Amino acid sequence: MTLLSNNHLDRRTEEQTDLGIQLAFGTTSRPVTDFRKRVRTLLEDRISPLLPSCERERRFPREAVAALGATGLFHERWSGGPHGDLGRSVILSEELGRAGLGGIGIGVGLHLEAATSLLRGFGSTPYAEEVLGLALAGESVCCVATSEQYVGSDLSAVETALTREGDHWRVRGDKWFVSPGAAADFALVLCRGSGGPAIVLVPRTGLTPTRRWRTTGMRSLETVRLHVDARVTDDAVLVRPGAGLAAVGQGLMYERLALAAQILGAMDLASVLAVTHLKRRKQFGSPLYRHQALRLRLADLNAQILLARRGMYATVAEVSAGGRVSMSEAAALKVTIARLGERVASECAHVFGGRGYVEDQNPLERLWRDSKAGRLGGGSDEMMWELVAAGFRPDHKLYDSWVKS
Ligand SMILES: Cc1cc2nc3c(=O)[nH]c(=O)nc-3n(C[C@H](O)[C@H](O)[C@H](O)COP(=O)(O)OP(=O)(O)OC[C@H]3O[C@@H](n4cnc5c(N)ncnc54)[C@H](O)[C@@H]3O)c2cc1C
Repeated sequence: MTLLSNNHLDRRTEEQTDLGIQLAFGTTSRPVTDFRKRVRTLLEDRISPLLPSCERERRFPREAVAALGATGLFHERWSGGPHGDLGRSVILSEELGRAGLGGIGIGVGLHLEAATSLLRGFGSTPYAEEVLGLALAGESVCCVATSEQYVGSDLSAVETALTREGDHWRVRGDKWFVSPGAAADFALVLCRGSGGPAIVLVPRTGLTPTRRWRTTGMRSLETVRLHVDARVTDDAVLVRPGAGLAAVGQGLMYERLALAAQILGAMDLASVLAVTHLKRRKQFGSPLYRHQALRLRLADLNAQILLARRGMYATVAEVSAGGRVSMSEAAALKVTIARLGERVASECAHVFGGRGYVEDQNPLERLWRDSKAGRLGGGSDEMMWELVAAGFRPDHKLYDSWVKS
């Protein structure tokens, strides 16, 4: 598989991004730009080389989490206020996407955003704090296990059982899709106690991968089915029975923002490669770029990418300035960007013609396969729209002033 380095991204994309950084981060733009450069170099040197074999072997590389954690990036992301440094989260995720890291990038995001946010937000026991320290240092890989055979969008139906056995808790059940489940040292398991859904921290000794899914895309994410059977002490109960769903919602919110940012990065990669291909490939005596139908199609998509990025940065800027993260806004960004991401990947592969439909020549077909998962991970389109709809507020006075009864 040919891997194109970030250096292949053209100046226009760089300028767009830097403009966005200034818009979002104002006076702190300099350190943020340095952070992006550091991330980019690290990904290029240490993580991108892992991708071809991990995609081929459908394996998530634990060493990716170790390499990123060892440099202090995860600590930097989670330093500061209640949301840590959300700007750094977005930049790291964007760069994972722009490096075309697909499944590896999503796995890093699940560890750093979904799992770590739960540990940081709810882990008050010494055991949970120790695991948080390991996760931030990249010394342990963490995942979140919520889905089951009969539990997908509706997490309130969770069946994995949490029961009291003497002075211990027993957690038992089967989790359907868990990423990166086989590589994980700890799983944050959504389960049902007598008071309702809870979240329990289960170590690797209580986790048995029973099936490695042959997913269409995101092959280096290593999504598995996981049998959970563990006896744990009180300090492993991260979120008490009854409060589990609200807590999972918090973790999912960070996951959604990071996922959206990663898709933005992947769209940059696909779009720049497609534009360059149009400039180079000749048909009917001139570069494809001269054919208006193709040029304008990419222009339309790029206009939407630009707006999506501005939307993401504006949300992050608001939160960085002390605003709260709104569930419906995170959902709106995720669903809109994920759907755009699928379209962009498909169209960019399309303008490569037959070359966009073969493996090992360019990343287009993989970006296209990977893009589908964006509409499911962190909750499907319909669940995101439900969250957006939950924020609807009618205005009866306005209605009456305009509409005759
Ligand atoms: C590659 C991959 C990695 C994953 N990793 C993880 C992981 O690490 N941890 C984890 O816990 N889960 C993981 N999942 C599971 C993922 O979160 C679920 O697939 C997703 O939430 C949808 O659940 P489901 O597949 O059971 O679909 P279902 O809930 O059965 O839904 C099927 C379809 O019906 C729609 N639908 C459902 N209910 C409604 C409704 N009320 N109104 C309208 N439409 C509705 C859905 O949007 C969807 O399109 C992963 C999935 C994939 C594909």
